[in-house]
Amino acid sequence: MLQRRLFHKIVQQFYLGHPETSRLSRFPPSLQLGLRSACHRSKTTSAFPDVRERTLIAVKPDGVQRRLVGQIIQRFEQRGFKLVGLRMLQASEDLLSEHYGELRTKSFYHSLVRYMTSGPIVVMVWEGHNVVQTSRSMVGHTNPAEAMAGTVRGDFSIHVSRNVVHASDSVEGAQREIQLWFQAKDLLDWDCNDKSSTSEK
Ligand code: UDP
Ligand code: MG
Repeated sequence: MLQRRLFHKIVQQFYLGHPETSRLSRFPPSLQLGLRSACHRSKTTSAFPDVRERTLIAVKPDGVQRRLVGQIIQRFEQRGFKLVGLRMLQASEDLLSEHYGELRTKSFYHSLVRYMTSGPIVVMVWEGHNVVQTSRSMVGHTNPAEAMAGTVRGDFSIHVSRNVVHASDSVEGAQREIQLWFQAKDLLDWDCNDKSSTSEK
């Protein structure tokens, strides 16, 4: 009888206890992350895209010089996104030519690189539901003259050559840019205490 009860308890714990954590813990952390999001996806419908979406936001040299870093971070925090990586650096021409590779043939490319290497920048990775699209709306139109009031560019800038902030324009673009500016070890996978207040998942 005792043996049967023990057997039952073991089976129950293995299959019902913590299905994700107990099985995932056998894999290295990097693989666990992918598996965990795969678990999320299999349990949810397309109405709830992956909450682990991430994007790259950068305060450009004019934003740093004008002491706007705090205000820009505050907007993303207030909106409910989670900061998972942050670096302040003086970007090299090589890194920028990779980052802005698609714009290499544009007439403004060389002045863009000169501007982006003119002083320190602050590069960040933000995470949350639909963060790529939402942060593009928060940042506003590329040309500040057309950016809506209430957006970062609409509130803090007047000319396209000094538009204060960068935001990735697609999920794929964000993944490429994040890998360019950050090493995996410098992105923190931490739990927000208010997670259930900002998203259903
Ligand atoms: N840019 C510029 N002149 C232009 C268009 C763009 O100096 O006519 C700069 C501007 O800093 C912009 C960056 O190039 O943010 C990248 O251009 P993109 O079209 O990717 O705009 P974004 O994605 O930043 O809104
Ligand atoms: Mg762009």
